[in-house]
Amino acid sequence: MADSPYDLIVIGGGPGGYVAAIRAAQLGFRTVCVEKRGALGGTCLNVGCIPSKALLQSTEKFADAREHFAAHGIRAGDLALDLKAMMARKDKVVGDLTKGVEHLFKKNKIDHVAGTGRIAQVGKVEVALNDGGTQVLEGKRILIATGSAPTPLPGVDFDEKRIVSSTGALALDEVPADLVVVGGGYIGLEMGSVWARLGARVTVVEFLDTIVPAMDAEVAKQFKRTLEKQGLVFKLGTKVEGIASGKSGVEVKLAPAKGGEGETLEANVVLVAIGRRPYTEGLGLDELGVKRDERGFVAVNEAFETSVKGIYAIGDAIPGPMLAHKAEEDGVAAVEIMADRPGHVDYNYNLVPGIVYTWPEVASVGQTEQQLKDAGISYASGKFPFSANARARTTGDVDGFVKILADSKSDEVLGVHIIGPDASTLIHEAALVMAFRGSAEDIARSCHGHPTFSEAVKEAALAVDKRPIHI
Ligand code: FAD
Repeated sequence: MADSPYDLIVIGGGPGGYVAAIRAAQLGFRTVCVEKRGALGGTCLNVGCIPSKALLQSTEKFADAREHFAAHGIRAGDLALDLKAMMARKDKVVGDLTKGVEHLFKKNKIDHVAGTGRIAQVGKVEVALNDGGTQVLEGKRILIATGSAPTPLPGVDFDEKRIVSSTGALALDEVPADLVVVGGGYIGLEMGSVWARLGARVTVVEFLDTIVPAMDAEVAKQFKRTLEKQGLVFKLGTKVEGIASGKSGVEVKLAPAKGGEGETLEANVVLVAIGRRPYTEGLGLDELGVKRDERGFVAVNEAFETSVKGIYAIGDAIPGPMLAHKAEEDGVAAVEIMADRPGHVDYNYNLVPGIVYTWPEVASVGQTEQQLKDAGISYASGKFPFSANARARTTGDVDGFVKILADSKSDEVLGVHIIGPDASTLIHEAALVMAFRGSAEDIARSCHGHPTFSEAVKEAALAVDKRPIHI
């Protein structure tokens, strides 16, 4: 069957695809979204941002009760974990949010086709329906928003029980006594934190000499120290040579990245979190001549159009930070440009914040000190520790600092790096100032409420000019 032409066919109902569909409908496009997963919301809502944050929240409360309540004069008695209930809560949060997207589709009159889409030709998408059969959709434009999938270790298959990707790590039915996490990026550290808080002995193996390599080196160093205090063990500069079945589950064979004698770790579960790769399987891109780069990302121009006219792509499927909010911004910009509106995402994605939702949280926007040094940009740095922030004293969250990097001549804020309480919220003050190309002095002269964690941002801005008040 061939439906009457749509203005836009979106393939993939993740944060890139569903947000693009909503914006398109707002702009008057007749829009359909094809999604093969049982629910809308993509990786983010189903097996990514949302379930991981739900578990981080639950386990943080558990760890708080165990480790910090007493200092507040609260005796909680014997604490017990009900993992089933914790997982059920996570599943409910996910279910409510995915249903919310369905509701938004109805509200915006967006058609939702449940099935796997393949681009048969420009303007035509064939959908193998989840309920059986095929539906052909015709449209003026096609938007690829098929996202990404976990990258496996070569020769190691995920069974999602003992050798798990993040998807399996979000749904373990018991706390593993020993968990090995391969990869010291944000997904490995968030999931490692979840299971460590619940009692697992967690060892993080990272090939590089640092965790979170894209983050500011000083932040990464403090982050590692803080996680070590929480019991995580790190093996940096170490590569995984193989994973095999072992007595208690799996054996992970390690060797120094630079060569030398290795060791074998026994674990109940190993989480492989070495990154994600664009997912474009089965779309028929090669037959259509849609170009991809050497890493498999769909190549697009500034209007998000691929090498084939009328076919566009956004989100994790194209180059740039593989983050939900970046996918959303791509989606909105792509559709606005299609509608001849001035849609854009900032140049080079420099203003896309990167956030790790551990405790303390880690967040950064703009350039790191190393990037500024490499670019030969002269900068001034202002730093303020949370130990000198009154609010942090009251909550007991004194680990961490705010660091602001500003151009030494113009004082324009070039990068902000935070490790500390609610860094995920604080970073947006910096992102906004940077979007307006504001200066450290602009932040320093803005009145910040007292007592708030935000005052640490103001103080770091004052410190750029060497005039912080509270240190
Ligand atoms: P996706 O969300 O991957 O959605 C693509 C959708 O397309 C999928 O639902 C897929 O089923 C569908 N699809 C694929 N092919 C087809 C086809 N042929 N036909 C029909 N449908 C198809 N990002 C953050 O910003 N913050 C976080 O805190 C965060 N936490 C994360 C935690 C974990 C554990 C993981 C795994 C990821 C996390 N991310 C986070 C990353 C975030 O989930 C992704 O960047 C984001 O989901 C990308 O959005 P997208 O729309 O491009 O793709």
